[in-house]
Amino acid sequence: MILMKASVHALNLNHYESESCVKISLELPAKCPCCGAAYSRQPEHVNYFQESPGIMTAYATYFCPACETCFFEVYLIQDDSPDLLGFPITQYPAPSEATSFSQELSTLTPKFVEIYHQAEKAEALGLTELCGIGYRKALEFLVKDYAISNHPESKEQIESFLLGKCIADFIDNEKIKTLAKASAWLGNDETHYIRKHQNYNVQDLKRFIKATVAYIDSELSFTEAFAFLNNSQ
Ligand SMILES: [Zn+2]
Repeated sequence: MILMKASVHALNLNHYESESCVKISLELPAKCPCCGAAYSRQPEHVNYFQESPGIMTAYATYFCPACETCFFEVYLIQDDSPDLLGFPITQYPAPSEATSFSQELSTLTPKFVEIYHQAEKAEALGLTELCGIGYRKALEFLVKDYAISNHPESKEQIESFLLGKCIADFIDNEKIKTLAKASAWLGNDETHYIRKHQNYNVQDLKRFIKATVAYIDSELSFTEAFAFLNNSQ
């Protein structure tokens, strides 16, 4: 991806009266975080703040004509004399690129989808210590709702069991069982004081949860196809 840059005038926030101005070269956002449309406009306004010598932050307001909404980008400024270069560090609002799940899965476990999307928002906002807890909670709803759909007679037990026991006793498909167990182990690392699996992180947890979802999706399709064949005979 080629990053577009723009040389802009930034107004000083330290001294409003003097209206002192510097020229900064900013990396422009490639997409609008609100609607996802491709973006190539210059910022509407740029301000900068000098915290101490050499430490500068710039704040740029952009306007997206596609969704007619403003968004905001925070830059860290590096003094690469004679130029000041701005590198984007945060965007407001955080990009809303939620993972989409199948209709069948959303019907099976609406709470999983809701909590997973909240965890994604937390991650996009940089709340890295919180998003792992969210993914772990989402996993619990995914596994338990799936287990209840296969064992409706044991609903109360499944709801009250710890996740690990629920996976061991009520998940029949071996691949889903293995993936859910691995996800649960990594998920527990996100909630406990001591991290047992040092070489794995939240991205691995998401990868395992997504693989669990893929297998559950294929089981749901299989059940549907099976019912379709039996009803069509
Ligand atoms: Zn937009």
